[in-house]
Formats: sequence, structure tokens, C-alpha cells
Amino acid sequence: MSLPIVILASGYGAAASAFLPRVAYRLAVPFGVAPRSACAGCGRPFPAGLRGWVRVGSSCPGRAFHRASPVPTGPLAMVAAGGLAAALLALALGTVAVLPALLPAVPLGVLLAAVDLRCLRLPDPLVGALAAVVVPPLVLLALVGGEPGRLARAAAAAGLAGAAYLMVALLPRQGLGFGDVKLAALLAFPLGFLGWPAVAAGMIAPHLVNGPVAVFLLVTARARRGTALPLGPALLAGALLGVVAA
Ligand SMILES: [Zn+2]
Repeated sequence: MSLPIVILASGYGAAASAFLPRVAYRLAVPFGVAPRSACAGCGRPFPAGLRGWVRVGSSCPGRAFHRASPVPTGPLAMVAAGGLAAALLALALGTVAVLPALLPAVPLGVLLAAVDLRCLRLPDPLVGALAAVVVPPLVLLALVGGEPGRLARAAAAAGLAGAAYLMVALLPRQGLGFGDVKLAALLAFPLGFLGWPAVAAGMIAPHLVNGPVAVFLLVTARARRGTALPLGPALLAGALLGVVAA
């Protein structure tokens, strides 16, 4: 482990995530609904083009409007989550080449978690973007490093995780969506790249994360029995813990 690298990574994760609150706000809409074009808090429309998406800090210069979520999803929470996630990756991976390959996934993971917490959805374009930043660098690493076995293991892990979550998703009344299935399969890819212990830890951890969170929310009356809780943030946190544990 190298402290400067951990600090740099953490700064990058926090800084990159600071640009995302407006993106999360605009994308946290029900299935089939276009991204928000205006702030629901003050009615101000977002500018057209990139300027309407990129803003450091809260989603609107006026008073931030947040859809009720049982856990914080505001700009500070996103920056903290990005900084912490990147620091943990750097701590776990040190200076090996897998670290730069996985760091771009941090802001996207934060964004996915924020959107899922707000609207219980993992939009396909975001999961696709995560796949686009995670898979190609790892494929390249394996091929350049002459380790095709790691690639085969990553693909096998993704297939196994996808199949396992798909079976659960097809059971009635379990609250697992197909977005969760796709995300679980995708997250198993880098875990498989690192090794089977990472896959095992990364697949078990989400349920260890979500259990206590659900109990805490029930006890503090932030959620009631039957309240739908998103699985995406737990899948992402669990994958991170899998990397750290491996
Ligand atoms: Zn506003």
C-alpha cells in the first residue's frame, strides 16, 4: 500500500462524484419517463446540452430538492461515497495495474447507487456505461499480461452470478429486479478477474450489508415492513468489499 496513491485515488473519487448530483437528479425517474428537464424544487429548467448535466455540487443552484430516500443521497453523501470507495480500492489494490482499470467505475457506481436509492431503478444506459468502463480495460490487461485464464474466470463468474440472480428474480414476490441481475453479473466480472475468493466475498457481502441496513431503517422508523429497498447500492458496496477482502 502506498499512502500518496490512496490519497490521490480518494481525491479523484470525491472530485469526480462532485459532478454527479445533477446527473443523478435528472436520471432518477420512473421507467420510460424522460430525464427531468427542470428542477422540481424551483421550476428552473436545466440548460440544454452538456451544461444541463454537469454541475459541481447540488443539482440546482437554488434549494436542493431530493426525493425522499431512507438514506442520504445528497451531494455530500455522493462525494463522501466516491472518496471512500476510491480510497478502499487503492488500499486493496495498491499500485497494481487493476487499480487504474477500476477507478473509472467509482463515480459511475456512486451515480447508480444514488439513482437506485431515489427511484429503485438501475437504468440500462448507466449499467451499460459501467460495463463499458470496466470490461475493456480488464480484457486488455489480461491479453497484454498473457493471462487469458483471468479473463475466462471473470466471464465464468459473471455468468454464474447472472444465472444465480436471474433464478431469484424469477421467483415471485422477492423484490429483485432485472437491473439487479444485470448489475450483479457485471460486478462479478472484475471480481472474477481478481479470483474466486473475491467473487465469493463480493456475492455474499451485499446481503450482509443490506440486512443490518434494513433493520436500522425499521428500528429508526425510516422504513416500514414491506418498504421496497434497493439492492443496487448493496451490490456495489458488496463488490467493493469483495475487492478489499480478496
Ligand atoms: Zn431548483
